[in-house]
Amino acid sequence: MIIALDGPAASGKSTVAKAVANRLGIRHLDTGAMYRAVTWLALHEGVAVDDAAGLAALAAAHPVEFDYADGASIATAVRIAGHDVTRAVRLPEVDASVSAVSAVAAVREALVARQRVLGGERDTVAEGRDIGTVVFPSAEVKVYLTASAEERARRRKIDLAAQGHAVEQDEVQERLERRDHFDSTREVSPLEVADDATLLDTTGLSVEEVVDGIVALVEAAR
Ligand code: C5P
Repeated sequence: MIIALDGPAASGKSTVAKAVANRLGIRHLDTGAMYRAVTWLALHEGVAVDDAAGLAALAAAHPVEFDYADGASIATAVRIAGHDVTRAVRLPEVDASVSAVSAVAAVREALVARQRVLGGERDTVAEGRDIGTVVFPSAEVKVYLTASAEERARRRKIDLAAQGHAVEQDEVQERLERRDHFDSTREVSPLEVADDATLLDTTGLSVEEVVDGIVALVEAAR
């Protein structure tokens, strides 16, 4: 079974996807981490974010790996080209470049192929931007999570502070909105709501409430 969880930046997808995976004992797949890993590698190797051919070559040559302990729901590490990038993929410089990298069609092709392999291995809750529309169009359950821009900026600011990055909320919101605009207007696989997705606005809801709602959808689909 595939549960597709899409939505804009900081809509709560990761927290919710992990909680759903733990509750159901299935695998969590963070596809954003895959685009981030390729972006990190491009920055590390000095490949420019407008060098589509260079980025495509990187993505094709270096499959993103996740470490899952036997039967575990949540990966303990993300790796690319022999580097453990689990923490590095959250750096602000990766945030700033990931939308440009993920707009490259050949990068998407390589990562979508890898996502389908990973999703085929076990029951999975996959989070991203195009899971219900492109990666797994026949997912049994599709949810599009959203929240107000203010709420999303507030949550992201707290996450960043926990990682030692102090940023003003206005600036966080501006960056999120810039990334969402880019992700929603790109030509290839833009962020959009699948026709058959359930739209869930998480503004003012607790994680528990959102998870309960998704688990109820999964039970109804079984
Ligand atoms: O989910 P997260 O914010 O970590 O995703 C980082 C970026 O990766 C997004 O802003 C988007 O550009 C890209 N992405 C994508 N398709 C996905 C997942 C993420 O284009 N399925």
